[in-house]
Amino acid sequence: MDITVKTSAKTEMLDITRPITEAVEKEGVRDGACLVYVPHTTAAVTINEAADPEVARDILVALDRMVPGDAPFRHAEGNSPAHVKASLLGASALIAVNNGRLALGTWQGVFFCEFDGPRTRKVQLKFL
Ligand code: ZN
Repeated sequence: MDITVKTSAKTEMLDITRPITEAVEKEGVRDGACLVYVPHTTAAVTINEAADPEVARDILVALDRMVPGDAPFRHAEGNSPAHVKASLLGASALIAVNNGRLALGTWQGVFFCEFDGPRTRKVQLKFL
């Protein structure tokens, strides 16, 4: 099952917990896991605090400090910072499903991380 994500900024973290939760319910998964996979080289997925939106913002600020845009990158497309950030966070997350529910902690949410937007992106879900 695919989720379509429309991003609206160059870098952005979008909370996609709700569509994943709905997909788990629709598929009738009771016990197992949900693989969230991002088939892109300049986007990622991560699990972190969703209660305070400043946390996602701070992660983007920290990534900007870690991956300076003026580093001597060689990739001619000019979006090397986006590629590096995508690899730092990773292309997949595996979330346990217990009794039909994502086993996320109280403060956790699943975020699609855009690093070279705005674009229309796909997120693949596999139920294991
Ligand atoms: Zn590139």
